[in-house]
Amino acid sequence: MRPVVISQKGRSRVRSGHLWVYRSDVKKVRQTRSGDVVEVQCSKGSFLGRAFYSRESQIALRMITTGDEVVDEAFWRNKLESALTRRRAIATTTNAYRWVHGESDGIPSLVVDRYGEYLVLQTLSQGTERLKEILVRLLVELVKPTGILERNDPKVRGLEGLALVKGKLYGEIPPTVGVQIEGFQCQTDLWKGQKTGLFLDQRENRLAAARDAGGRALDVFAYDGGFSMHLARTCEKVLSVDISAEALTRLRANADLNGLTNIETIEANAFDLLRDLAERGERFDRVVLDPPAFAKNRASVTQAERGYKEINLRALKLLRPGGQLITSTCSYHIKEDEFLNILASAAADAGARTIILEKRSQSRDHPILLAMPETHYLKCLLLQKL
Ligand code: SAH
Repeated sequence: MRPVVISQKGRSRVRSGHLWVYRSDVKKVRQTRSGDVVEVQCSKGSFLGRAFYSRESQIALRMITTGDEVVDEAFWRNKLESALTRRRAIATTTNAYRWVHGESDGIPSLVVDRYGEYLVLQTLSQGTERLKEILVRLLVELVKPTGILERNDPKVRGLEGLALVKGKLYGEIPPTVGVQIEGFQCQTDLWKGQKTGLFLDQRENRLAAARDAGGRALDVFAYDGGFSMHLARTCEKVLSVDISAEALTRLRANADLNGLTNIETIEANAFDLLRDLAERGERFDRVVLDPPAFAKNRASVTQAERGYKEINLRALKLLRPGGQLITSTCSYHIKEDEFLNILASAAADAGARTIILEKRSQSRDHPILLAMPETHYLKCLLLQKL
């Protein structure tokens, strides 16, 4: 197969450690099928490595090697195994964690989440889609799961010309799966839950959010209660808010399962509820804000900024002096600096002098590849109102 030739600009990107080459930097392609592993060369003829080729996406190439290694089943086994070794060292207090975080683990566009004896797989480009059978075989060989579910319903698959699908790839997947996370029993629906079932990327931030917590806490965008349960261990009362009745039913079931009786749930739109609470003069010692990504693309950033500012402004008003706000954005398009600017402006409008206690990110089982800012999507700030 003839190599794919890329521009000098593409070459410097690859040499900097970035794994994506955009279509505008591809100079020559011959005889490729979607998802082929191809050789990559620069226009001056030097070999740059091997990559997945996508015929549809603007991300034409996703680099797999920068050397001459053969990309075969043994290569993929090795990648999966080394990612698993790294995870086992990190995820010692949970049996639910991200095993493969795509580019950061050297398998671009692949997600594997582990929920105890079950695995959830996402193949998000033509490259990993073509590999699906091999991947399932290797995952079975490595950890002997009871079941593997394909949650290939994220919209990004559309950019690769791939259909949105969900289905069993191996074994059995029951409607409810139980896992242990940081001493809590959590039940989740891998078929219908958001993302792959749970928001595993906030695991370490929940511990930070509940550190030295007491008094009255408010958990906004609570989903199935990850933050709420952590707070309920030491706070007198927790008020959990979500717009989804289904999420709150799951939250109450999880609270029951863990013998927590101090969580109250409210089904509401966070924007309205935060305003109502402020109007009623309610006060909290700790507030958590963990909204869905308001900026899904660059075009929606300005509107998203307004949304982030509004909820953070209201949350800061609801805090007692000395209280803490744990606030996140999972929009890749809102960089940490921008998020800090939004928070500073919210604090100014709320008349709240505020300090940063900690700057955090996604949990360590969702590693950031230093050379690829795209892999850093979650920013979580711990703030204190003076
Ligand atoms: N904090 C959760 C994850 C939150 S995900 C955890 O730790 O696991 C975002 C949640 O926000 C979802 O459960 C979604 O139902 C909810 N949501 C989305 N828009 C909302 C709105 N306008 N008001 C309240 N909740 C909303």
